[in-house]
Formats: sequence, structure tokens, C-alpha cells
Amino acid sequence: MVVRLDLDGNEIKAIKICMIGGGGFIGSHLCETLMWETNHTVLAIDVYSDKIDHLLQEDTPWANRISFYQANITLDPRVNDFIKDCDLTINLAAICTPADYNTRPLDTIYSNFVDAIPVVKCCSENKKRLMHFSTCEVYGKTLGSYLPADDPRRNEPEFYVLKEDDSPCLYGSIEKQRWSYACAKQLIERLIYGEGAENDLKFTVVRPFNWIGPRMDFIPGVDGPSDGVPRVLACFSTNLLRREPMKLVDGGKSQRTFLYIKDAIKAVMLMIDNPGRANGHIFNVGNPTNEASVKELADVMTEVYSKVTGLPKLPQPTVEVSSLEFYGVGYDDSDRRIPDMNLIQKQLGWNPETSLNDLLEVTLDYQHKTYADSIAQSMNSSKAA
Ligand code: NAD
Ligand code: UDP
Repeated sequence: MVVRLDLDGNEIKAIKICMIGGGGFIGSHLCETLMWETNHTVLAIDVYSDKIDHLLQEDTPWANRISFYQANITLDPRVNDFIKDCDLTINLAAICTPADYNTRPLDTIYSNFVDAIPVVKCCSENKKRLMHFSTCEVYGKTLGSYLPADDPRRNEPEFYVLKEDDSPCLYGSIEKQRWSYACAKQLIERLIYGEGAENDLKFTVVRPFNWIGPRMDFIPGVDGPSDGVPRVLACFSTNLLRREPMKLVDGGKSQRTFLYIKDAIKAVMLMIDNPGRANGHIFNVGNPTNEASVKELADVMTEVYSKVTGLPKLPQPTVEVSSLEFYGVGYDDSDRRIPDMNLIQKQLGWNPETSLNDLLEVTLDYQHKTYADSIAQSMNSSKAA
């Protein structure tokens, strides 16, 4: 393999990475890049491995650089030994599907805060570098959302652009249990930041802004529970595959910025390979130019799905549902999420590249090729029953 250089022109030395939650959506893409493009070694820890099984085969050139350890980190004392044995720990493990935040708030808080504490402490006590995955949701709602609907200040960036070292974290009341996830992630960020300040923990915190792409979540009834509710990409993909209308929660007015997973992984790789520039920072990682309301996302997905499959659009591609009906009591929403990109540009020179249209073409092509047959079979067998 050619010598890889960091942003300051120094040779990047191979390191050993302990990747907790390495079998998930982001973990699977990160493992691919680490195996295909670097000499780093990965120990992936997760409850599941199906999304990385293709990397774990014995006859690959990287077979001696990746291993999988099946474990629930809350129940397995060996995790500490693995962290001590590695140069860098990347913690991706979390419950991170909004349908769980208000219906399983305890699991959500334990998973995102309590279960992450021993990982932070082990890194801090053993002077190991930690890269922790937080979320853009720590910002909560925008300042502008508290202004009257016709207030012109809503259009001023300081009322909606989310900046790591400046924007406040604005959540709803405790009854709005949606915010259990954001609050747990905020507290683990504060713990990490405190360990950095008081005990010199070398850390990087990543705040992903709606990273999407192949292998995200699951398709209910095919590779996940039939009553499960994944994140919006997989919900809408399921609807398209089943030829049923996509459900717009509360009209689909909320806005998101969508980042292609492959662009996101480039940002994570820069953080891994440039500790001097990434340590001590909390980074927004998103694509401010790919903003769409959920309704607009549904419209683009309708067009793109029709283009990649050749299937006609449904006469009624979307229906509106209330959040109470869709998520139950205690749901609330982030109104808008535009990341400020100055810090990541300055420290790492990273910029996203892929448009929403292009990333959806790749992703929906993948969804169709991966799931269309299984969906057709499951729909036929339920018709026959
Ligand atoms: P994911 O659910 O696909 O991955 C999380 C992985 O962690 C899963 O494979 C799960 O099995 C594993 N895990 C959970 N608890 C575990 C435990 N106790 N022991 C072992 N493994 C455990 O989600 P993802 O999209 O890959 O997200 C990864 C991280 O990034 C999470 O911390 C999430 O909060 C954060 N994040 C992601 C996005 C995004 O856009 N995808 C947005 C915001 C935040
Ligand atoms: N959403 C929707 N229909 C669905 C699933 C989600 O309208 O079938 C909306 C949800 O209410 C939110 C947005 O899509 O406004 C994004 O939801 P996602 O689950 O991806 O997570 P979030 O961005 O809120 O963390």
C-alpha cells in the first residue's frame, strides 16, 4: 500500500482501533474504508455483524486486520481490555431511532449516557484516544422556532444555523420524552469534555447531521421487526418498495440536511488520521446545501425511485399522519438543522460533495436491488394467508 500522509505531510502510522457499535450503519461503512484504503487494524464490537460479514471472510487481503467480537458492552468486562489494547476507541453504540426515544426512554438514556460512561472512563484512565459519536440533535430546536411564524428574524442565520461553540441546546419539557436521546447525548458530551479539561482525555466528538445511504437501519418485516419504525430513509424506502404512500408526520414540514454516508466517512477518516487537528474538538458533520423538508424528501424519493426502477409513480405518493398516531405520546421534533461548517473546514479542510439527488439514486438503487424480491414474497404470502 502507498504511504499515506496526514494533512501536515507526515506519514500516517498504522494504528489499532477498537470500534464499539462497529456492526451498524456508520460502522459498516467506516470498516470498509479502513480495510480498503488504510493499514489500520480494527476490532469491531457489536451485538450484530450482518452489515460487516462481507469484510470478515478469511480469503480477503485484509483478513488479518479486522476481527469481530460479538458482545453487548454493558454485559462484557472484556471491553475494557480491548480499549487498553488499542490506540483509538471509536464509540458508535447507541439506540438512535426516534421511535424509541419517547416509547423506550429508559433504554435510550441508558444506552446513550450510562452505557457510554465506562468507555469514557477507561479511555481517560488509560490515556487512550476516544472518538465519540454524538448527534446534531443535541442542539434540539432552533432559536428561530420560538419566534412568531411571521417574524423576519427567522430568516437570519443566527436564528437557525447550528454552531458547535455558540448555539444553545433547546429542548422541550420532560413530558416530551423525544428529548431523552438529545439530553443523554448532551450529558455524555459534557462528561467527555470535562474529562478532557480535568484529566487531559484526548477526544473528538462527532455530531452527524442525518447521514444516509445503503445499509441504514432495516426494512420492517424483512431484516427487522415488522412493527419496528426505523429512521425516515428506511421508512420511506419501505413505503416505496411496498408501493404504499409515504407517511408525512405532521405534514412533513420539518427540515433536515442530508449527508451521503461516503462523504461523511471521509470526514471521519480525516479525524482518525489527524489527531493533532481533531483532538479537543466537537465537530458538526453535515451538508448544508442538501436541505429539504420531509415533504420535499418524499417528493425527491418518489421521482428517483421511479427513475431507478422504471416503475410508475403512485397516484397518491404521500399521506399525512399526526405525530401522536405515528410515534405516540411524548414525540416532539427538531424544526430545522443547518450545520455551521467553519470548524471542520478550518481544522480538516473537509467539504461534502454529493447532492441529495445523487445520493438518493445510489441508495434507492441499492434498496430496490436488495429488498424488492423479499418484499414481494412477504406481500404475496400475507395475501395468501
Ligand atoms: P446503528 O444503529 O446502525 O449503529 C449502532 C450500532 O451499535 C448497532 O449495530 C447496534 O447493534 C450497536 N449497539 C448498540 N448498543 C450496543 C451495546 N450495548 N453493545 C454492543 N453494540 C451495541 O446507528 P448509526 O446510524 O450507525 O449510528 C452510530 C452512531 O452515530 C450512534 O451513536 C448515533 O447516535 C450517531 N448518530 C448517527 C446519525 C446518522 O445520521 N446515522 C445521526 C446522529 C447520530
Ligand atoms: N418522518 C416522517 N415519516 C416517516 C418517518 C419520519 O415524516 O415515516 C419525519 C420525522 O417526523 C422527522 C423526520 O422525518 O421530522 C426525520 O426523522 P428521522 O427518523 O430520520 O430522524 P431525526 O432526523 O428526527 O433524528
